[in-house]
Amino acid sequence: MGDNMLNGNLKLALQKNGRLTEKSLNLLKSCDIDIEEYSARLIVTARNYNLDILLLRDDDIPEYVMDGVADIGIVGEDVLYEKKANVDVVRKLGYGKCKLSLAIPESQTLEDLSELNGKRIATSFPNILKSYLTQNNINATVVEISGSVEIAPSLGVADYICDLVSTGNTLKFNKLKKSFDIFSSQAVLIANKNIENDPDKKSQLDNLLVRIDSALTARKSKYLMMNAPKNSLEKIESIIPSLKSPTILPLADPEMVAVHAVIPTSKFWEIYKDLKEAGASGILLLPIENMIV
Ligand code: ATP
Ligand code: MG
Repeated sequence: MGDNMLNGNLKLALQKNGRLTEKSLNLLKSCDIDIEEYSARLIVTARNYNLDILLLRDDDIPEYVMDGVADIGIVGEDVLYEKKANVDVVRKLGYGKCKLSLAIPESQTLEDLSELNGKRIATSFPNILKSYLTQNNINATVVEISGSVEIAPSLGVADYICDLVSTGNTLKFNKLKKSFDIFSSQAVLIANKNIENDPDKKSQLDNLLVRIDSALTARKSKYLMMNAPKNSLEKIESIIPSLKSPTILPLADPEMVAVHAVIPTSKFWEIYKDLKEAGASGILLLPIENMIV
């Protein structure tokens, strides 16, 4: 470990084993950064990039980045804001999306926020909950519990709970129901505040960000290809929500052309019918690995 810490590589803290691990490693993969088998180790060095990866409990990541043990890290916004670490949020990464929600016993109703006044709410996110309550002028008691928050109401230690809810099955099992969301979270890339003043680290981070941005942009885009009759080209061009002007290529049939364009993935399902109606055929949608805009 000593050698690793002195090699001058940028140090990235990742969750060792949890919901963010695989997606974060996939993001690095999309950046063409290869990591050797890491199962039992605390630090691994990328095979083909000057990057050391520290594998940690996610709870420790904000503080390690704040203290400079790691230069950067990937963590959920929920954990980041709960830990109140003083770090820079450099990028929102678009995965690890979840919501922190208030849940109440199935038999009860909650119509207005003000009904939370005087209630006890169990949570493992006391800081996020407290700031939500303060912002909304609610005077409730926050009961901090580190795990299995859902059982607090049946144990009588709280009236309601505030927890990450995904399927709602755990709630149901404990005779609770979701009431409303108080915080939306996704994975973010965070950085130590001092990187700004360290030209070497700063340029390493900037280089990594070029790759991350390219991977994130590519995820949102697809390469669209089709054949089109020349005489409907204008119509087809007007349908394509292309980032740039589409590429038009000649085909063996002089009446036909191939049209290629990069489009936002989400738009495809809105336009494919119009494209067909306009005469497009052989429509293909291909993934893009990287994209520099
Ligand atoms: P660790 O052992 O590292 O402390 P953990 O059990 O505290 O792990 P996980 O359950 O792996 O944490 O969740 C890590 C992060 O993933 C959460 O902080 C949250 O940002 C996000 N997350 C939680 N639930 C979901 C979900 N259902 N879907 C997507 N992301 C989620
Ligand atoms: Mg944790």
